[in-house]
Amino acid sequence: MNNDIESVLYSKEQIEERMDELSGEITKKYENEMPLIVSVMNGAMIFTSDMLRRLNFKLNLDIIKASSYQGAHSTGEVKIIQDLRSDVKGRRIILMEDIIDTGRTLKYLKDLLMKRGAKSVEICAMLDKPETRTVDLKGDYIGFNAPNEFIVGYGLDYDGLYRNLPYIGILKKQIYA
Ligand code: 5GP
Ligand code: MG
Repeated sequence: MNNDIESVLYSKEQIEERMDELSGEITKKYENEMPLIVSVMNGAMIFTSDMLRRLNFKLNLDIIKASSYQGAHSTGEVKIIQDLRSDVKGRRIILMEDIIDTGRTLKYLKDLLMKRGAKSVEICAMLDKPETRTVDLKGDYIGFNAPNEFIVGYGLDYDGLYRNLPYIGILKKQIYA
């Protein structure tokens, strides 16, 4: 295990097993819908790519980059850093995200895509921190719940690091304190 990790929350095997279940649920609902999968960069990159290989039906993929923070403090304002290239009008969308915390980012993105004329927007997130939610937002497909700690690995970073860890772990407090 990486020295900066306090403990492993979910192992590679647990994540893989859960992705098999989640992709089964999504397949049942979407196999004849040709949805547009929208992956929220950069955190959802690894989860998205592992999920996509389990979705054996026609779909499209696009990416969007959002940021909910300005400087050190959360402003509550969400900004699009890099927009979609796809037209979402009339499309069924599945937003793929790494983790839902306050819920602001996904609420903003979901509302935006609906305003642009999407037929539906559902949310698939690898992790959910239900304790820290500040807006009314519910994920439709959730991998696991996470405690109110700083989580890294499997796409999630701290200061650009740890995205490549093949498991989901809690970062030692002394690293970011
Ligand atoms: P929200 O808008 O739901 O508060 O923000 C979600 C975003 O905050 C996630 O996409 C992620 O980038 C970041 N975030 C929230 N909690 C954590 C965490 O525990 N670890 C990491 N690495 N990022 C987090
Ligand atoms: Mg993110």
